[in-house]
Amino acid sequence: MSQPAASDNSMLIDRFGRRVDYLRISITDRCDFRCIYCMAEDMTFLPRAQILTLEEIFTLARVFTELGVNKIRVTGGEPLVRKGALGLLRRLGRLPGLRNLVLTTNGSQLENAAGALRDAGVRRLNISLDTLQADKFRQLTRVGDLQQVLRGIDAARQAGFERLKINAVILKNRNHREVGDLLQFAIDQGLDISFIEEMPLGLVNAHDRAEAYYSSDAIKQDLERRFALLATPEQTGGPSRYHRVVGSDTRVGFISPHSHNFCATCNRVRLTVEGRLLLCLGNEHSVDLKRVLRANPGDDQVLKQAIVAAMQIKPERHEFNLREQPVILRHMNVTGG
Ligand code: SAM
Ligand code: SF4
Repeated sequence: MSQPAASDNSMLIDRFGRRVDYLRISITDRCDFRCIYCMAEDMTFLPRAQILTLEEIFTLARVFTELGVNKIRVTGGEPLVRKGALGLLRRLGRLPGLRNLVLTTNGSQLENAAGALRDAGVRRLNISLDTLQADKFRQLTRVGDLQQVLRGIDAARQAGFERLKINAVILKNRNHREVGDLLQFAIDQGLDISFIEEMPLGLVNAHDRAEAYYSSDAIKQDLERRFALLATPEQTGGPSRYHRVVGSDTRVGFISPHSHNFCATCNRVRLTVEGRLLLCLGNEHSVDLKRVLRANPGDDQVLKQAIVAAMQIKPERHEFNLREQPVILRHMNVTGG
């Protein structure tokens, strides 16, 4: 293969003509919560030697931006529990070519970290919040403290991010009756909100995923009893389909991997905490970039070739099926949601 030139920013195009310009990076598999849809109660985390160093993450991010990636989402696990996360974000925030640095967090550390994140150049935050009831919050996260997260959301509002969005995974008979209250909370706080259908990633032991399935259409119907929603073609570069809540600034997104497949417009790839470049959330097609990086220290060209070649194995679509045991055994915290 010919050598990709460092300045060529249209290298990442897959077999289906989709341009990849968005990278999600899981910077740690660890977390201070144990959400029932994300983790098993008893998780074993990866040994340190197996995960990318912060320097390696930065190198890979830089190389991706040189290949045309202009948006990076840092996620995990809980990204803010990794030591040095802020320093990494500061460096990412200075990468030329990166227009959009964003972060997904459970909010537990935001009370202290929000201002520093904004200063680091993080433009938008997605904050996970599935319920406004303290006891249910504890059940869903197994260990989390709702008040701590609400204080974090407050701090984020003060810090002046361009946009804050709540992510709520909705499970039938756990929190599906709260969708209206969650939307009202978002409206009152001037936030956007996305409702997410649970994805069958990794084995979880707290519930049966098929029984807990609550579709985006059902959520939308529930919301429309209380709110006027207006479909909008607005995109934020992710898989959400958006509606505006009439009379407010709030946008409501629906992330519907089961009921509305979003693969046709997929513009993203993921870097797992182990340095695996994952071409699709719902498939195992991947390339071991950690191996390439460690075998060729300082050689950007080899890395770029590996990344460009990886586009050829990006699958056309995901294959989630709630009624079968997950084919995808990796948990969301390793993958990076
Ligand atoms: N710890 C951070 C957080 O919770 O926001 C970032 C990582 S978390 C894996 C990213 C997002 O994935 C969260 O909004 C979480 O609710 C969502 N998530 C986790 N497991 C999921 C699953 N099985 N299906 C759908 N969404 C999931
Ligand atoms: Fe942690 Fe986020 Fe997974 Fe919850 S969803 S266990 S907060 S990584």
